[in-house]
Amino acid sequence: MNGLQTDASRALYERALRYTPGGVHTSIRNVAPHLIFTEAEGAYIYDADGNRYIDYQAAFGPFVLGHRHPYVTQRVVEALERTDLYGVGTTDLEIELAEKICKHVPSAESVLFCNSGSEATYHAIRLSRAVTGRVKLIKFQGCYHGWHDYVARNMLSAWDMIGKRDPGSAGMMDEAVDHTLICTFNDLDDVQRTFEANPGEVAALIVEPVPHNIGCVMPQPGFLQGLRELCLRYGAVLIFDEVITGFRHDIGGYQKVCGVTPDLTTMGKAMANGFPIAAVAGKNELMMRFNTNPGGDVWFAGTYNGHAVGTAASIATIGLMETAGVHEHIFRLGERMRQGIRDIHERMGIRAYVAGFGSVWTTYFMDREPLNYTDLKDNDAELYVSYRRKLMERGIFKMPMNIKRNHVSFSHTEQDIDHTLQCIEDVLKELRGE
Ligand code: PMP
Repeated sequence: MNGLQTDASRALYERALRYTPGGVHTSIRNVAPHLIFTEAEGAYIYDADGNRYIDYQAAFGPFVLGHRHPYVTQRVVEALERTDLYGVGTTDLEIELAEKICKHVPSAESVLFCNSGSEATYHAIRLSRAVTGRVKLIKFQGCYHGWHDYVARNMLSAWDMIGKRDPGSAGMMDEAVDHTLICTFNDLDDVQRTFEANPGEVAALIVEPVPHNIGCVMPQPGFLQGLRELCLRYGAVLIFDEVITGFRHDIGGYQKVCGVTPDLTTMGKAMANGFPIAAVAGKNELMMRFNTNPGGDVWFAGTYNGHAVGTAASIATIGLMETAGVHEHIFRLGERMRQGIRDIHERMGIRAYVAGFGSVWTTYFMDREPLNYTDLKDNDAELYVSYRRKLMERGIFKMPMNIKRNHVSFSHTEQDIDHTLQCIEDVLKELRGE
């Protein structure tokens, strides 16, 4: 890469290619240039060649406090000095964390822990099918809910596959693909038509309340409330997938912000600041069907569920949110970033729309607010590629995909934001040949 020494990264990547398909362990990590990161602290990550970057990718979202946050690390180490995992009964850490989640998240009357967001959405959907006796699922084009067959269709579809059957992966079960119905975000009429076309058949509607997998597409006023009403009217379970929004946008999740309470909620990422844990929570009436409860008939299990690493990290993360002004800080810096970028665009006459909420922002290179996935056809993806690359050369690390979001953490400072803004202005000038 121009201007950056990356030889050590390249050598490591060559080695990885010998033992791992494509050299990476998650498909979307395979982006050029293949930087290998070896150290992280707070707002910064360091590659194998010693280059430092201000990190806004945040590993796709978990780092709400910053990398290796000392308080979280300390609580995890303390926990591991006395406990780990038993495979029987419950633990004091699981109980403390469950109490915190049920105290803060409006829809959470009870909660169960698992290890990833995909597991959480899988369990929520299976439970919905059990309680309704129905099979079909509604999801939205552009929303991501994990890798499993129930939800993998029509994620980030190629433009010519919007509105078509886009399985998302080879090896999917046709039944799963065909029982997942796809709607357009922010279009209540479309959702209503879909319910009406499948009478008595829809078990659940799953939605990212803010579709952050396509950046920061905001729900329009009344949309989430409308979904709530439609689910009640047609007897379907409403699942808010708050794997990204949970704990990042509010300690009670985006449901607390928008005032709409779903039946079930899935959480992950920011709930433990980068440590592996996720959760499914909801109304007792539904949750008691899980067979952790004697008499329950919906299978729920996992060898590593509730491990001390994740539960201690999550207690520490949520604990800091309760006491340390985390949201105040990240919201203030998020707004400073968004406003700063807008000012630069205005000064330079750049055609772009800066979207965001709280600690999150996305620059869409288009001149209006996108309301759904299809609107993003107008976004100039090619411009983003050179924009990101030039920012990386200046030590600013952003999401590799043009329609993904960026995150500010509790470890970022005003100086980080102002330095980033200066780099953005310099890059935009360079791209214009000034
Ligand atoms: N739901 C949403 C909204 C997500 O963004 C993700 C991951 N990006 C998932 C579910 C799946 O989580 P995981 O990768 O932990 O399985």
